[in-house]
Amino acid sequence: MKGPQTGRFPVAEQTGRKHQETDADSGKDGRMNTKYCGHIITGVAPGSIGEELELEPGDVLLTIDGNEIEDIFDYDYLTDSDRFVMLVQKADGEEWELEIESGGEDMGLTFENGLMSEYRSCRNKCIFCFIDQMPPGMRETLYFKDDDSRLSFLQGNYVTLTNMSDRDIERIIRFHLAPINISVQTMNPELRCQMLNNRFAGEALKKIDRLYEAGTEMNGQIVLCKGINDGAELEYSLGRLSAYAPCMQSVSVVPVGLSRYRDGLCRLEPFTKEDACEVIDRIERWQKVLYQKHGLHFVHASDEWYILAERELPEEARYDGYLQLENGVGMLRLLYEEVTDALEGKTDDGKCEELSIATGFLAYPYIGRLLERITSVYPGRTIHLYPIRNDFFGESITVAGLLTGTDLVAQLQGKRLGSRLLLSASMFKNGEAVFLDDMTKEQAEARLKVPIHIIKSGGNDFVEAILDPGVAGRQTAEHANYELMPDSAERAEEQEWMADPD
Ligand code: SF4
Repeated sequence: MKGPQTGRFPVAEQTGRKHQETDADSGKDGRMNTKYCGHIITGVAPGSIGEELELEPGDVLLTIDGNEIEDIFDYDYLTDSDRFVMLVQKADGEEWELEIESGGEDMGLTFENGLMSEYRSCRNKCIFCFIDQMPPGMRETLYFKDDDSRLSFLQGNYVTLTNMSDRDIERIIRFHLAPINISVQTMNPELRCQMLNNRFAGEALKKIDRLYEAGTEMNGQIVLCKGINDGAELEYSLGRLSAYAPCMQSVSVVPVGLSRYRDGLCRLEPFTKEDACEVIDRIERWQKVLYQKHGLHFVHASDEWYILAERELPEEARYDGYLQLENGVGMLRLLYEEVTDALEGKTDDGKCEELSIATGFLAYPYIGRLLERITSVYPGRTIHLYPIRNDFFGESITVAGLLTGTDLVAQLQGKRLGSRLLLSASMFKNGEAVFLDDMTKEQAEARLKVPIHIIKSGGNDFVEAILDPGVAGRQTAEHANYELMPDSAERAEEQEWMADPD
């Protein structure tokens, strides 16, 4: 690594100027009218340029090259340069002007808020919004309706484009941010206004054209509502969206989630097995056409459709490298393939243990099949698998990620759990051993009288957690970034290459 050349010049020493508050009213592009206070540094990585410059937690970044920093993307853009000047305010109020030659190397600084800005909330009132279907009394953060395009790039969130200005779109293009994940729902502008309860929602679709013209990579999502945007409307939307391929890389179609808290909300019907078959047939017809044309299957039905239709999941090659795992598209197929890879060439270790796993009804039959394969190699493991009904949100909610500790404990009490209970990390708050209803892992352990081990999402983690209590005990509730195992990643690369050998 080439060492950075840096220089530190406290402003007070150079100019005699003492600390003075900066006022954003004088901002160059006039984008902020409130008093600009800078960004508080909360961490300085050891050995980083920031440490070399003697920056410390509590220091405040004021400007870079005279520009105020709107958010993390401004910061990344302005620091991704061979040379720049950073103005920092120290704890004693002194300002340091730092001339930095970093060669583009990361400064090693973290800030109070990862986005370096307030999150933008949404301006819609979608007829299918799950947040509107949550009971009162849950933790406050669960009710926050974000619709912030910046979180699309940082966390993969889907955004409706309804609260983005033309300037926001131009920033995405200028900073080469990609891919942007878009909640499309329908390409019919009038219908989109109705579904999002926002009169500007149809007009916002034009922003997709601008992103397409600029070559910005996109992914789309359609939350399907029965009798509203399915059937001929879905056909129309897929036709329109396919014109953006391959710049738009994928479109997922997911069924609306309906909890039992829908009083006063738009009446929506659950999908039936026949509906699911029709949706899959339509999607698979489009896949054939688009694969011929672009080498991409492009449109994908989420795992729930295949389970509802009682059909086999598509083979791995049809997921185009798993572009929409976060939307539940291909998760079960990937888990199956990764478990297969993890078991390859393995023989029995001769150990015996009785243990248990609990999951939602959605994954239950598939997890059962995986356990059969694992115990066929390791017959000494006796694994009890329990599906947990979602009494909290209603039985139609079947994913593990929306189960509560209360339902888990109530339904497992008195059951044979063996020496430990394994639960998916998705059942916990990201990074914390706390269920959706704020019950802690320790409280559930005390009520069930069994240690709980958290399993990360990968197939290898799953197999290891079953075979080795020591490894399982070290896995955390950190939600996966959906990093593919090397074998899966290699296969995904091969598939991408086959789709586009250039
Ligand atoms: S965009 Fe729609 S679905 Fe998303 S949070 Fe807002 S109202 Fe809910």
